[in-house]
Amino acid sequence: MFCALPARRLITTCVCLKTAHKLGIVEALNINDIKGLFRQSSSAELALPDLAPIDWGILDYLGWIHPSGSTAFVVMPVEDELRSLRLRRVLNAGARPRTRMCSWCHHVYRSRGTALFSVYVSGSDGRRSIGNHICRNLDCSLRIRNLASDPPTYLPETLHIESKIRRLENSVLTFMSRANVLA
Ligand SMILES: [Zn+2]
Repeated sequence: MFCALPARRLITTCVCLKTAHKLGIVEALNINDIKGLFRQSSSAELALPDLAPIDWGILDYLGWIHPSGSTAFVVMPVEDELRSLRLRRVLNAGARPRTRMCSWCHHVYRSRGTALFSVYVSGSDGRRSIGNHICRNLDCSLRIRNLASDPPTYLPETLHIESKIRRLENSVLTFMSRANVLA
């Protein structure tokens, strides 16, 4: 199981959404913080990771994969509130590996490094599924900081780390907005 938690830092970010959101100061989360975000999930369904070894200072969102591999959880602070996603996860198990970029951190894999993470959304047009191809272990924060280099990205960028962080945050926010969890 992989887990990642939001960084403890002061960053003000304007995002290209209908409403501008600011990311607030994030203190280290505890188990009760997280359980409170997923009240409809039992402890077994959540399979919370051990929070003790987490380096809070290098992570932009909390993400972990249920041991089943088919469910994932994401938590990120937005305007001093924690917002969360419970996602379905499908690995790219096609016969032929293909080059694919993580929609959130832009790490480019030459084979099966991403998975499709999706959620059902109810809207005026009925119930539909939205999804992104994202790093299969939700380790985007490590990827943009070059702390997880295996496999290395196929298309290295010269973008400054602050810009990568902003882009990652905006991508998660955009997904959350589409998933109606920012309302
Ligand atoms: Zn990624």
